[in-house]
Amino acid sequence: MKTKKYKALLLDLDDTLIKSNTLYDKALLHVTKHLTKRFSLDEKTFFNTVMDKEMIIQRSFPSVHTRHSRILVFRMALDEVVKVYDLSILPDVEDMYWQYFLEHIVVYDNVKSTLKTLREHGVKISVISDGALGLRIKKVKAAGLIPYLDQIFASEEVIFEKPFGALFTLAISKLEVEAKETIMLGNNYKNDIRGAQLVGIRAGMFDPPEDGNPMGQDMQIRVVPDFVINDFSEIIQEMGY
Ligand SMILES: [Mg+2]
Repeated sequence: MKTKKYKALLLDLDDTLIKSNTLYDKALLHVTKHLTKRFSLDEKTFFNTVMDKEMIIQRSFPSVHTRHSRILVFRMALDEVVKVYDLSILPDVEDMYWQYFLEHIVVYDNVKSTLKTLREHGVKISVISDGALGLRIKKVKAAGLIPYLDQIFASEEVIFEKPFGALFTLAISKLEVEAKETIMLGNNYKNDIRGAQLVGIRAGMFDPPEDGNPMGQDMQIRVVPDFVINDFSEIIQEMGY
């Protein structure tokens, strides 16, 4: 029987609170379709080019939020395929991408009721997510989760992304709790689980049977979560309530 009651819950955003992984691909396809029409390109070939460029950007900027940049992806793809084009297209399609994403966000089952219950127990709850703060807040708002959270922190605020400790320590310091009073829940072994464990936070993996996206396992040195939950509501028990 658990007697310890944890005071704070840190939550990853993508694929922990909202179903993001397939939505990113859909948003990319949405923008690709628009561009192929506009420049009379072959849809499949151009989509593959865009996917390749996305991989290059993601791998070229490890640990900083530039790796999530969509405008750089579209620039690289258009530079290669179209070569000469009106530059104002770039921010427009980036906006189009995020608008599509925000309009199609789906929250995992039982997230809202669970967060409500935990807050009634006095638990402080914050999203900690890699990327720019403005977009994190827009996503949380589009998901309807603003009223269920105390805070949102983004890696932009501390330069380096998870698993670097800064985002975790910023969150607990602002929430005025200690690492040992805090639980982290995420879907990335290295970034969410190990990152939290390295600063003394108990960390669990969210692995739902449907639409889950456990990722980032370290093939050399396995990351072992402190717990695994398959339904979001199970976090209540892990928190000791
Ligand atoms: Mg995630």
